Amino acid sequence: MKKDRVVVIGAGVGGLAAAIDLSRRGVEVTVVERAATPGGKLRQVDGIDAGPTVFTMRWAFDGLFADAGETLADHLTLEPIDVLARHAWAGGARLDLFPDIEQTADAIGAFASARDAQGYRDFCARAKEIYQTLAPSFIGAERPSPLELVTRVGLGKLDLLWRTMPFSSLWDALEGYFVDPRLRQLFGRYATYVGSSPLQIPATLMLVAHVEREGLWRVHGGMYEIARALHRLAEARGARFMFGAEVKEVLVSGGRASGVLLADGEQLSADAVVFNGDVSALGSGLLGAPAMAAAPATPVKARSLSAVTWCMHAQATGFPLLHHNVFFGHDYADEFDAIFRRRGITAAPTVYLAAQDRDGSSAPKTEGVERMLVLINAPADGDSHVYDAETLQALSERALELLSQCGLQLSPARTVGFGPSAFEELFPSSGGALYGRANHGFLGTFERLGAVTGLPGLYAAGGSVHPGPGVPMAVLSARLCAARVCEDHFGRAPSTRGGLSVATG
Ligand SMILES: Cc1cc2nc3c(=O)[nH]c(=O)nc-3n(C[C@H](O)[C@H](O)[C@H](O)COP(=O)(O)OP(=O)(O)OC[C@H]3O[C@@H](n4cnc5c(N)ncnc54)[C@H](O)[C@@H]3O)c2cc1C
Repeated sequence: MKKDRVVVIGAGVGGLAAAIDLSRRGVEVTVVERAATPGGKLRQVDGIDAGPTVFTMRWAFDGLFADAGETLADHLTLEPIDVLARHAWAGGARLDLFPDIEQTADAIGAFASARDAQGYRDFCARAKEIYQTLAPSFIGAERPSPLELVTRVGLGKLDLLWRTMPFSSLWDALEGYFVDPRLRQLFGRYATYVGSSPLQIPATLMLVAHVEREGLWRVHGGMYEIARALHRLAEARGARFMFGAEVKEVLVSGGRASGVLLADGEQLSADAVVFNGDVSALGSGLLGAPAMAAAPATPVKARSLSAVTWCMHAQATGFPLLHHNVFFGHDYADEFDAIFRRRGITAAPTVYLAAQDRDGSSAPKTEGVERMLVLINAPADGDSHVYDAETLQALSERALELLSQCGLQLSPARTVGFGPSAFEELFPSSGGALYGRANHGFLGTFERLGAVTGLPGLYAAGGSVHPGPGVPMAVLSARLCAARVCEDHFGRAPSTRGGLSVATG
């Protein structure tokens, strides 16, 4: 009997998760990946995790593995992190955040004021409420229109939707919770988890703070183990992988996607095709003219953040680094104005540093060279601006100078830098944007493509589509996509179609 066939373009987290969900349902899956290894943005350079470092929403992975008949803990060792992040400012001020609200409130009380400590409690309560409203109706469900969201939440519960604060910016809302401007900076930074500016993102996205507080994990062996585990599971369920193979065109017959053409001329036919790259590549024509109808190219001004990153083997002195560390520049609003309006990077940009050999506790590790990812935000202009070695060097001097003002001296032994132009090369048609579209304005979140594209038979999964970017969100998007493909093409039971099982705590 002829098997149902799906080609998945891209072995990023979304492509891998889609391959698992489809192959476990008996579909014949071929994953075609242009890189030599699985993982996409989840990748390693010189033994260092060079992409995501913050692992949250483990329930998204628990669900994926459980539905494939496996237990996540048998495939990945996850350790809870007991200090979420250490935050520092020039001059020596420091603040740690903890999963426990009262522990953080005490820290904020000592750092700022009792009023700010109470502001934090109120902020956590509202972030939790927003998450609980949107987890089942938006995050774990097919992309709704604003009207459909109202219906899903319930017409009688309009007050709940109103309380998600879709019409205020996060930046403005934070002023209502915190007096100390450094706290506005700190909690505004959650906008960057979805590649956006705190000045333009709806206050709704304060739910990211809740998600992180609910569970932040360190992956034993590094984040890249996630890609390895997903790849192994997909193969074990029967998916076939082709690495170093680029799809040049989505083939169309009778108005439907019918397969793919590879760069070496090989054709693979399929009943449906899933695209896991940045969906902007479809509208830009990178997957051939017929696929341009599938989705529009993302306008430059709608792109999310890019970054400049350095994978470093370095010695750190003078500052007790934890696993996650943030060093704030003094004018946060100006940093985002520079990136999104002036298309530049300020003189002293905020620096994120993942010290990958350290755990979440404050146990000091003061000797020897260790592995780090150092990151500053950048405009997604990698297709119009060259970030050459000289530019990266100048930016690294700015970053190191801010670190030193915060008390940290870094002596890099070996460094590999990446800028928006390198990310554009790795993730074509993104301009280096790492999170698809920015979630700016009330409608920003709804403007992401869902699993269904404008070309019948072609579907989308990954961080550039609904419900949004980030490793667990890419998994959710893939699961919604796989369910949709099965229902549309193969009459399989739509076990996850209307909504996934999501943690609502
Ligand atoms: C520096 C950095 C830091 C980040 N930090 C975090 C974090 O801390 N926590 C978090 O959760 N998320 C973080 N993210 C975001 C997260 O990594 C992404 O949202 C997620 O990994 C995206 O997965 P994806 O499924 O969209 O696939 P991608 O990772 O975008 O992979 C898509 C794949 O498709 C392939 N492809 C594209 N076109 C073709 C083609 N024509 N033919 C063949 N293959 C093709 C590409 O080569 C690529 O491998 C970070 C990202 C970066 C880069």
